[in-house]
Amino acid sequence: MPKIVAANWKMNLRRGSASALAGRLARDGRACWLFPAFPHLDAVGAAIKGSQCKLGAQDVSPELDGAFTGDVSAEMLADLGCGMVLVGHSERRQGYGEDAARLLAKLRRAAQAGLAPLFCVGETLARRKAGKAEDTVREQLALLSKLAAVERGRLCAVAYEPVWAIGTGVNATAAEIAPMHALVRAELDKLGLAKQPILYGGSVKPENAAELLALAEVNGLLVGGGSLEYDSLAAIDDAAKSAS
Ligand code: PEP
Repeated sequence: MPKIVAANWKMNLRRGSASALAGRLARDGRACWLFPAFPHLDAVGAAIKGSQCKLGAQDVSPELDGAFTGDVSAEMLADLGCGMVLVGHSERRQGYGEDAARLLAKLRRAAQAGLAPLFCVGETLARRKAGKAEDTVREQLALLSKLAAVERGRLCAVAYEPVWAIGTGVNATAAEIAPMHALVRAELDKLGLAKQPILYGGSVKPENAAELLALAEVNGLLVGGGSLEYDSLAAIDDAAKSAS
């Protein structure tokens, strides 16, 4: 299976720089999954049209339509040509208090609109120090069992992202990542999701990409800071191609 490189651009770049970066990736024949900010989706979508890159959004409303100021619905994203959406990213779980009920509603809305959710899980440092890292991830994944099988089947991937490794420059070790990916694989198997790729995320950069991609059940990488410049993202993508 080709290893996946997904770029979460968060609240970064501008319309011009996002579409220039996307266009260069597309012209180079790269097959990255790009998650730009909402206002850049249209321009990035145009820049990657006809290429192997895919477009995703960073968030989605749990509501269908209506008086939800600031929200963007799954139907709107699908209408714009988005195929995927991040759900459960730790910056949403923690920064915006998104609980399991809200995430479940988002997963359902996304799947019903034909979007493929990229579901993110991962423990905080406190949970890891308390010896609860595995329990945390197992509990987060259990949410998927509440989806109808057809909704669940729309998932494009699951990302394991230890919260303490996101944007911190601190890397999880192979000894921490490999057992967690094995656990995620076992849980996904139980849910009938044997084919869904499992991505690793947390301070991925060109220097550590190859080592991470060599680990068992690391089917790709979800990259934040390391995806904002062409040379860095291209080097990570080259590592993914070599590991595929
Ligand atoms: C992320 O936002 O999903 C992420 C992994 O960020 P970073 O690569 O910057 O740690």
